[in-house]
Amino acid sequence: MIILTLNCGSSSVKYSLWEMPGAKPLCQGIVERVGMGDSTLTHKSVSNTSKNQEVDCPDHEAAIDLIFDVITDSESGVVSDLSEIEVVAHRVVHGGEKYTHSVIIDEDVIGAIDEFAILAPLHNPNNLLGIRMAQKVMPSVPHTASWDTAFSAAYMPRHTSLYAIPYKFYAEYGIRRYGYQGLSHSYVAKRAARLLGRNRSEVNLISLHIGNGSTVTAVKKGRPYDQSLGFSTCGEGLVMGTRCGDLDPIVPLFMIQHANMTHQEVEDVLYRQSGVFGLSGGYIDRRDIISAASDGDTRAQLTLDVECYRLRKYIGAYAAALGGIDAVVFTAGVGENSPLHRQLACQDLDFLGIQLDRKVNNSAVGRQSEVDISTVDSKVKVFVIPTDEELVMVEDAAAIIEDRFDPDNFTYSFEQPGYVPSYLRF
Ligand code: ADP
Repeated sequence: MIILTLNCGSSSVKYSLWEMPGAKPLCQGIVERVGMGDSTLTHKSVSNTSKNQEVDCPDHEAAIDLIFDVITDSESGVVSDLSEIEVVAHRVVHGGEKYTHSVIIDEDVIGAIDEFAILAPLHNPNNLLGIRMAQKVMPSVPHTASWDTAFSAAYMPRHTSLYAIPYKFYAEYGIRRYGYQGLSHSYVAKRAARLLGRNRSEVNLISLHIGNGSTVTAVKKGRPYDQSLGFSTCGEGLVMGTRCGDLDPIVPLFMIQHANMTHQEVEDVLYRQSGVFGLSGGYIDRRDIISAASDGDTRAQLTLDVECYRLRKYIGAYAAALGGIDAVVFTAGVGENSPLHRQLACQDLDFLGIQLDRKVNNSAVGRQSEVDISTVDSKVKVFVIPTDEELVMVEDAAAIIEDRFDPDNFTYSFEQPGYVPSYLRF
């Protein structure tokens, strides 16, 4: 069975092709800067064909056409015709409380994605666009949806997910904490349990997904207990690339009342002008921030201090919330590649039993393997685990199609002994 994954984001579309059973990756890639000019297509396949080229990509429709072309191309492609694809698995950001695990997309699901766009205005509409386009080109194959909110929205208990505002705002408008990036947290939590040699239901851990979007999840006995992002993908939690994370709710009101800003302008500031970008005065890439800080740029240094203090604060808070932890996991672009962020996030946490091995930490860069960066004596293990959201989507999709999907008890191939991470197969 050949499965295509599609992740239709605001300015990029990511894709991958897999062969099941065996979760064999065939190719993966991304079209970036969709509709912004200077668009690029990056593609690599297991047969070592790679492409990185500028493309004409005025909109998402063009991006998906480019993807269909590259995967069927006689040189770089891995299928000779789209008809070889038997399932399309779509990543969708918000499933509300209604969709707490992957499902086949039908009219109800389409309606829900549209309905929950009010909760994820930057993401759900693009996800829906991708689904509609793929369905148009491949109308006769099943399409599945895997939700970013599902892992945490399904399991976070009431007392960690409700805000202390009048209850009617939850009951009538669904205002609660949902949690995001669940496909990634789900993957690394299961891998961490495997690395600990324990059953996932026995393990408490804290997973930190640090990239352009950043979240931290407290996992109790294998299931999400708390998550740093709450109602929206913007506020609460970690400092992100351009999003603010934790913020006093009066700040946006103050901006409207006293800085003469419209609410659209405030939204733009909080989603697109804040985070490390806003603090540093223009850097999003943490490599630039680290290098500027080491060259004496005090704003860059302050940005690093604010971002890493927030990471440390959440590790401490979640360690207490969980009543002790077995492991801390770092993942995503920054988590997998920045020893400095990991070191600062774990600084002075010896009292919690967290001790980093500096040398191993410094050498754990790139998606080469999963690494234990803690000392041999560290009571709490600290892992760098390259994430693989697509693999979760693909395994869910295959299991749904084959009618063997049990969301609460499904065992993924990557929980089995001998699993070789897919990124090592390219
Ligand atoms: P997204 O949320 O867009 O999926 P990623 O998880 O790909 O983001 O992370 C992208 C970020 O990873 C970049 O903005 C960059 O700051 C960071 N990054 C990548 N490599 C390094 C590195 N060697 N050191 C520090 N940060 C890095």
